[in-house]
Amino acid sequence: MADRHPPVLRLQKLHKTYRLGLHTVPALQGVDLTVWPGEMLALTGPSGSGKSTILNIAGLIDQADAGSVAFNGRDIQGLDGTALTLLRRDAIGFIFQSFNLVPVMTVADNVDFPLFLAGVPAAERRQRVAAQLAAVGLSDHAQHRPDALSGGQRQRVAIARALIKRPKLVIADEPTASLDSHTAEQVLDLMRECCHASGEGGGAAFLIATHDHRVVRRCDRVITLEDGRILDRATETLTS
Ligand code: ADP
Repeated sequence: MADRHPPVLRLQKLHKTYRLGLHTVPALQGVDLTVWPGEMLALTGPSGSGKSTILNIAGLIDQADAGSVAFNGRDIQGLDGTALTLLRRDAIGFIFQSFNLVPVMTVADNVDFPLFLAGVPAAERRQRVAAQLAAVGLSDHAQHRPDALSGGQRQRVAIARALIKRPKLVIADEPTASLDSHTAEQVLDLMRECCHASGEGGGAAFLIATHDHRVVRRCDRVITLEDGRILDRATETLTS
């Protein structure tokens, strides 16, 4: 895998400091992290260790103070705001703890929304949404509103929405934190299937920030952060 494709994401020597009035908070202190195509990578560590900061940089939402970010083999330094927005829109999916679905839209319209924004023709959108809803087991709920669904079903809608653009990378922030154990296991099984799927639309890499040991157990690789540094280098060097 690593021989044939560039990493989906390569973060090198990232530093990030927040300023709070007169104080500075060092959030990342030299983080190196590589995400390979089709892998499910857990980012874990105590609160305040820098997980969200990494997700924001990996998701091209925020920028580091120093260090480099390469997406799909291409250094993003020098890309302007529009190019970054397009790259984020087309190549990255997001999954959140609280699902972040649009409550007044049907399940199908929530999943369709990224395609609509990207200007995909209506006939193709209908077909892709139907296929994606089938893949997450929600065909029967296409015309329901999110508030008619269980937490696990809502997270499956969010997974379908994240995957509808066939992204290279899916960034998930505590995706199981609002779910009971049984539902969390089902959602994790689905994420694993989507991550390891081959063929059209499959094989996105997942970068998952989590405190949840059930998530960590299911991932291909685990990176542990503490005080803005990666603690455990052993797993990282296996594939780089
Ligand atoms: P985690 O996601 O692991 O809880 P974060 O990346 O949110 O960690 O935070 C890393 C450090 O940066 C923490 O000390 C946090 O308080 C600080 N931090 C995060 N965001 C901000 C911000 N917007 N302003 C100031 N400090 C922040």
